[in-house]
Parts: sequence; structure tokens; C-alpha cells
Amino acid sequence: MEIYDNYSLKGLNTFGIDVRARRVIFLRGSTLDEPFRFMYDVEELLKSDFRQAPYMVIGEGSNLVFTKDYEGTLIKIGEAVFHGDGSSRRGDNDVHYRYLTVGARMLTDEMVRISVGYKYYGMENLSAIPGNIGAAVVQNVGAYGVEMKDIVETVDAIDLMSGGQRSFTAEECAFGYRTSLFKQQAGRWLIWRVKLRLNKEFRPILTYKALADELQRRGIGEPTQQQVRDIVTELRWSKLPRPEEYGSAGSFFKNPVVDEVLATNLKKEYPDMPLYPGNKLSAGWLIDRAGWKGRTLGHAGVWPKQALVLYNAGGCTGQEVVDLAQAIKKDVKQKFGVTLEPEAIII
Ligand SMILES: Cc1cc2nc3c(=O)[nH]c(=O)nc-3n(C[C@H](O)[C@H](O)[C@H](O)COP(=O)(O)OP(=O)(O)OC[C@H]3O[C@@H](n4cnc5c(N)ncnc54)[C@H](O)[C@@H]3O)c2cc1C
Repeated sequence: MEIYDNYSLKGLNTFGIDVRARRVIFLRGSTLDEPFRFMYDVEELLKSDFRQAPYMVIGEGSNLVFTKDYEGTLIKIGEAVFHGDGSSRRGDNDVHYRYLTVGARMLTDEMVRISVGYKYYGMENLSAIPGNIGAAVVQNVGAYGVEMKDIVETVDAIDLMSGGQRSFTAEECAFGYRTSLFKQQAGRWLIWRVKLRLNKEFRPILTYKALADELQRRGIGEPTQQQVRDIVTELRWSKLPRPEEYGSAGSFFKNPVVDEVLATNLKKEYPDMPLYPGNKLSAGWLIDRAGWKGRTLGHAGVWPKQALVLYNAGGCTGQEVVDLAQAIKKDVKQKFGVTLEPEAIII
């Protein structure tokens, strides 16, 4: 394994926050193409003393906000210079599904691109989500009406406490809204391989309003898989900060679920407020209506095209992001009686 002390995390988190970690360990070897090399490094890791200080597995750092230097060990799959992770057609092939086994460090968007190339269906709505497949499982990432849970067959993970290995079925992963067993038991599991279950037949999911509206606007009645991928990608980047220009962690808050009484009262008072099944509200709408869209506090800001996204307006610290989030949270609570919870992981 590659071990670096006092390592700058600026390039390891998409917010671009300039902090350092006491130690970063890179586990070498593509988990699929070079499993012996990878497992050799895992064994080295398990024999080492990493558990004596705080530790955490990280992916591409697109959902993390570091508020200060990390006084422990960050563990990352892959070498410091990333050469990709494997995907293969190995696995079963039945009447309805094709199965793809993927190394945890495969980028989620790259995996969508490959699935479109193979004409394996079901991932296209997850186009352009930053981060890798291992973390996509941890977070149960979702967009445009599809979540990771819809396409996971099994997840292989290493127990960092006992050193054992375990394969989880999708049900055992306990997926929920931006959560899973791996998030609930943070620090225990290192996911190294994921088996995806994709459809042989194309049944596009076009329920998400913005996607349906855009297809209609373009006069596309029956889109191809590639068209869905392209439109989702365009829609996303028209609303989100480009990572190469402004750092962010995507949606900073989860969409809150409130009780029936509060949902009904708010809808009466604000008839234009989006209200989704299960009394789920739009955090972006609440933040916008609380007057925060486009504003900055210190060097952190609320993205002018999507109020759910907090961004680095230039040299911001993690503490400034947290201060901004707290100010927003307070105003939303005061105005609507709704408590916002972060989706991003604050460290
Ligand atoms: C511009 C932008 C847009 C985004 N849009 C979306 C969106 O539409 N939908 C959505 O759901 N999310 C979105 N996100 C959030 C983010 O992309 C996802 O949460 C993504 O899955 C994080 O992947 P990562 O590799 O960067 O993980 P990290 O941020 O590095 O880590 C996330 C979590 O996963 C854990 N982890 C990472 N790898 C492993 C592993 N191998 N084993 C065990 N635990 C692991 C970490 O400990 C951490 O708890 C967006 C982010 C950005 C910056």
C-alpha cells in the first residue's frame, strides 16, 4: 500500500477545502483486474495500526465537508494516480437481467457510460453523478427517479474490525433515502466490489417532471437510452456548479419529510410549494423562499441556479460551509417550522 503522512486533501474533496490528513493510505491494485495485489494491500492494512486513531474510507470526496485537519487515517481504494477500475460481463445472465461486476472505484458516471455502450438498461438516469460505485452504494445515490438500490444485486465488503469478508444481498444493504447499512455502520465496512443487475429490455423511467418536460419540449416521444443519458446530463449541468469551476458536494441538504398536519398547513399557506408523496418537501424550494438563493456568507455561497447546493465561492473553509448551513437551517425552521438535515457528510 502507499502511505502518505500530512497529506493535503485539497484534491481529494470536490469542495476543494484546503485541509490535511495525518495519514492517507491508498490500497493499490484495481479490485477486479488485479485482485491479488489489492487483497495483498488489504491484508497489509489490516495488520497495521490504523485503528488506533480515527479512520475513514473515502471515495472521490464528492459528498464530504472537512471542517478541519483530519487527525487520523483516510483509506482510499486505488493508487494515488488513478487508472480506473474494472467492470466485466462475468456473472449470470437470465431472461430479464444482465449482471455486471464492478470494482468499487469505478466512477459511477463511467459505469453508466459503459452500460449504455453494452445496452444494459436501468442506470441511465444516474448519469453525471460524481463519485464512485462503492460510495454510490453507501449513499444510495439517486437522481431523476432512480436510486442505486434499484440496480444493486450484491455488495462485497471487508470488515475492517474483524478482517473478514462478507457478501450482502440488496435487502441486507438496508437501503433508505441517501443511506444504507454501510452508512449506518460507518467505519466498519470497506466495499470493494458490487454486482449490478441491469435490464435486458429498455423500460425508461420518465416520471421525473423536469425530464418528462424536456422530452416533450424536444418532441421526443420514445427516447433511446443514449437520449435519456444525454438529456439527464445536460439538465444536471445546467443547474449545478461545474466541479472544475466551483467546488461543492452537490445537494447539501436532504429533502425533509414532515408530518401530515405540517405538510397540509404549509400547502394551504404556500399553494405553489412542491409536495411529494410521503409528505416530502423540496429543501431547495424552502431555502429559496427563506431568501438564501444566490447569497454568500464568508466564502461559502448558495448556488444561484439551485438553492439546495452550497458551493465554494473561492478559498472557503469547511467551517464557513457549516456556518452557512446553520444560518439557512435556522431561517428555514423559523419561517416554515421544518428542520433541514444535511445530506453531505460533515467531518
Ligand atoms: C456536483 C455534484 C452533484 C451531485 N449530485 C448527486 C445526485 O444527483 N444524487 C446523489 O445521490 N448524490 C449526488 N452528489 C453527491 C455525491 O456525488 C454522492 O454522494 C457520491 O456517491 C459520493 O461518492 P464519492 O466517491 O465522492 O464518495 P465520498 O464523498 O468520498 O464518500 C461518501 C461516503 O461513502 C463512504 N465510502 C466511500 N467509498 C467507500 C467504500 N469503498 N467502502 C465503504 N465506504 C465508502 C465514505 O466513508 C463516506 O461515508 C453530488 C455531488 C456533487 C459534487
